[in-house]
Amino acid sequence: MADIVRVLTDAVANQIAAGEVILRPASVIKELAENSVDAGSDRIQVIVKDAGKSLIQVVDNGCGMSENDARLSFERHATSKIRDTTDLFAIRTMGFRGEALASIASIAQVEIKTRKLEDEMGTLIRISGSEIELQEPVGCNPGTTFSVKNLFYNIPARRRFLKTTSTELKHIITEFQRIALAHPEISIRLNHNQTEIYNLSPETRKERIAHLLGNHFNHSLVPLDTKTSLISISGYIGKPEKAKKTYGEQFFFVNNRFMRHPYFHRAVINAYGSLLPPDTFPSYFIFLDIDPEHIDINIHPTKTEIKFDDEGAIFQMLIASIKEGLGRFNITPSLDFNQDGAIEIPIFRSNGPLDMPEIQIDPEYNPFTTDMRGHERSPVSDHRTNIAQNWESLYEGIKNPPSESIALENKE
Ligand code: ADP
Ligand code: MG
Repeated sequence: MADIVRVLTDAVANQIAAGEVILRPASVIKELAENSVDAGSDRIQVIVKDAGKSLIQVVDNGCGMSENDARLSFERHATSKIRDTTDLFAIRTMGFRGEALASIASIAQVEIKTRKLEDEMGTLIRISGSEIELQEPVGCNPGTTFSVKNLFYNIPARRRFLKTTSTELKHIITEFQRIALAHPEISIRLNHNQTEIYNLSPETRKERIAHLLGNHFNHSLVPLDTKTSLISISGYIGKPEKAKKTYGEQFFFVNNRFMRHPYFHRAVINAYGSLLPPDTFPSYFIFLDIDPEHIDINIHPTKTEIKFDDEGAIFQMLIASIKEGLGRFNITPSLDFNQDGAIEIPIFRSNGPLDMPEIQIDPEYNPFTTDMRGHERSPVSDHRTNIAQNWESLYEGIKNPPSESIALENKE
């Protein structure tokens, strides 16, 4: 019998890769905006029509590309971000697989205009279904503009699978929020069918949260700030009484990359303990910073699932950091920050047992009988009363003093 194994054409291979990476218009926005971030842009504009089904345009003022680079960027496994396998363990960029542009160009009609600041002319390339249709010099601003039209035009089954405009737009907004939250230093805009949804200037992280998700966050966020030799934890968590019955304002980032992490989510819920009203989810915007050698980003096609070397240790540190944050908000007077500087978090030793942080508390003190200004609270009218009954549970398990520990700076 004749041999039957053959190597797939690039176009087919690209479509297969696209099947994993580009699930819907929102995935295109994620990939293109991440490229703009990696290109050092400080201004990014996202323009969509019909929830991205007819047009997705991403305009940036980043480093742009030379003509050769622009042409090469559509090849599979073509990237400027890594060179060899050792680089896989030092990734600070959003992309590194050189897969996105090849994938997008295999399932849509793509046009790119790009120019490096130092070049006089830019480059225009049109590519559809992996076929280059046009490549020529063009006058354009420094930076890069990608236009992606008619997504899945050549895969009818995939196109039919797209949901209604409002559902696809929701996915786009969610993806946009993740990118905008991770980069409050970047001006970023989102337009849909000529309507401006977001127009955000550079701002603090807290301002960005409020502008993206609602001004009520101006008054309901508790900052986190914990640094250990393994990881730094920063960002904000919502006050327990503001927790919602619906899910959706939970954001974890590692090295400024959004990630899903059900196990760390459990750490958050665990840390709030009985402070949370039943069946509610707290909002959180938690940023983990860690040496990239301790994480593996390469376990999931869209890079939203990330493996950490020592998830157990980080789980405990998250709990300690959140409890400390909540403690400062709810029961600050009972913490003696002058003693030994501040709260203690154990030094990380990857092979040894993990000590729990030590917090000095006055077990007799009940902050809820008197508020911060010294006024008596009414136990009946105050909805925090049942929180008061539970506040001690914050410190369960934090009893044994660590053998060796680092004092955390109290930055608040
Ligand atoms: P990756 O981001 O994994 O490297 P992509 O397929 O997304 O792969 O992009 C391929 C290459 O094209 C990038 O490595 C980068 O050098 C270049 N590139 C893509 N988008 C931009 C952009 N907006 N500005 C400058 N260069 C870009
Ligand atoms: Mg990329």
